[in-house]
Amino acid sequence: MISPILASLALASALISQDLLIRDAIIVSPNVAISEMPLDVRVENGRITAIGEDLVALASETELNAAGLYLTPGLIDSHVHLGGNGGLRGDMVEENIALVRAYRRQEPRSYLYWGFTTLLDLTRSRPFVDHWNGLELSSQLHACRAAPYANGYGMMFEPEEYRYEAPYYIHDPDVAQSIPAEHDPAEHTPEAVVGRIADDGDAICIKTFHEPGFGGLFDFNTAPTEVLDRVAREAETRGLFNLLHATSLLSWHTAVEARAHVMAHGLWHWDQLNGAQVNPETELPAQIEDLLDATIENGITVQLTTGAIHGEVALYDVDFLTSDALAATLPRELITWHSGPQGGWFRDNLERIADDNPVVVENFLGHAPTGEPGETSRAALRRVIAVGRYLHANGAELVLASDTPSSPTYTNAPGLHGYQEMLTMEQMDMIPSEVLAAATINNARLLGLEDEIGSVEVGKQADLLLLSEDPRNEISDMGSIRWVILDGRPVQREYLSAGN
Ligand SMILES: [Zn+2]
Repeated sequence: MISPILASLALASALISQDLLIRDAIIVSPNVAISEMPLDVRVENGRITAIGEDLVALASETELNAAGLYLTPGLIDSHVHLGGNGGLRGDMVEENIALVRAYRRQEPRSYLYWGFTTLLDLTRSRPFVDHWNGLELSSQLHACRAAPYANGYGMMFEPEEYRYEAPYYIHDPDVAQSIPAEHDPAEHTPEAVVGRIADDGDAICIKTFHEPGFGGLFDFNTAPTEVLDRVAREAETRGLFNLLHATSLLSWHTAVEARAHVMAHGLWHWDQLNGAQVNPETELPAQIEDLLDATIENGITVQLTTGAIHGEVALYDVDFLTSDALAATLPRELITWHSGPQGGWFRDNLERIADDNPVVVENFLGHAPTGEPGETSRAALRRVIAVGRYLHANGAELVLASDTPSSPTYTNAPGLHGYQEMLTMEQMDMIPSEVLAAATINNARLLGLEDEIGSVEVGKQADLLLLSEDPRNEISDMGSIRWVILDGRPVQREYLSAGN
C-alpha cells in the first residue's frame, strides 16, 4: 500500500518536510462535490497545490499510494484544555509524577492519533502554546484567554491571596471590599481587559463565564448581562470572538441577551423547568424551544460539549478501561493506575457530592432519584442530546467541541473524547457529512481559518487524514484512520498510538 521508503521515513521521524503526491484517494470533504472517482492530490511546502486525475509525479515528490483509502480534512476541536494530569487528583500528582509526565508526553500524539490536527485551548498562556506548537508532532494550537468575573467561576477556586493576580479578571464594584487595593478597577473594566488581551496579540478569542453554581452546588458571583455584552462588543471591535460558558437556562438566556458569539456548553441545567412537561416530538419544554430559537436567530455558534456529560456516564462503562481505543490513547501504566484502588476517585467523588446534596439532585432530576447509578449524568445527557437535535433541525451552527478534559478523569482522554463527541452528534440526527463539517469547516470558520484549513481544496494547508473506511456511511468510520498528514508530512497512525 505504501512504498517501503515512505513507511520507514514516517516511522523514523515523520518529520521530513517533503513534497507529496497522494495517489488515488477518494476525497470526502466539505465544499467538495461527492465523487467516487479516485483522485491525486499534490502537496508542496505543506499546501495542496493540485487535485486531479493521473497527475505526473515530479522528481522531488514522494508518492503515497492511497488506493482504496478516503481522504478527509484533519479534524478541529475548538474546546480543549491541554497539559492536564491524566485524570489524577491534584494531591496525587506528586507521588505519581512519572505517570503525569507519561501522560503529557502522549497527549499531543493522542490528539493526532484521533485525527485532530487543529485545537483551540480556552485558557492556556502563550508560553504553553508556543511550547506545544514547537513539538515535533503536535496539532496546530490556537488560544483563547479567560476573563472571569471578580469572585465568579473561573477564579473562585484560587486561594484568596493569589486570586486577583489573574491579569484578566473583570471588576465588580459589589465585591470591591475583597479586592486588594493595589488592583486598579480602571484596569479591569471589560474594555481594559479585552484591550490587554488583544494587545498581547496571540489569543484569537475571549472566554467569559455565566455560572451561578452548577444547579445549586455552589454560589458563584455572576456578571450582569450588560458587562458580558460589553466584553463581546469590545472583542468584536478588536477582532476577537467571545465564548461564554453557560450550562443552565438562566445562563443561556443571559448569553443570548449579551449577544455572545459562541455558547460554550450544552443546556443541561433546566432550572425551574427540570420537571416540566416536554413536547413529545422534541423532548423539550416549550420555553426551551423558544430560547433555542433565539440562540439560532442571534447567530450564536454552539459548542454542545456533550463529552462533559458523556465522560461521567462512561465512568459506569465497565469495558471502557480495557478498550483498545483507550489503550491507544493513554499510556499503559496510567490505565493500570486507573484500574487500581485509587483510580475510582473521581466517580466516588461524584457519588459523594450527590449523596451530600439530595435536594440539589432532586431539583436537577425534577423528581426523586430512582437509585440508578449516574442518574443525574444520564438525565443531563438525554437533555443535551434533545437540545442538540432541536438546534440542528432548526439550522443552528454547531461546531465540534469536546471540552477535553471537562473533568479530571480517564474517560476524558485526549482525542478519543473528541471522537466520542462526533458519535454523540450522530444521535442528534446529524448525518455523517454534517458531523464531519462540524468537526472541520464549521470550526475553521469559527477560528477565522476557513481559507487555510477545514476542507480538501487547492490552496489549503495539507492537514489531512487517510481512512480505510468511508466516513460518509457512519461517522464511527472516522476511527479508521491509517495516515495523519500534518502540514504535508505523512505519519502512520500506529506510530502515534500510546501502545507503540
Ligand atoms: Zn472547558
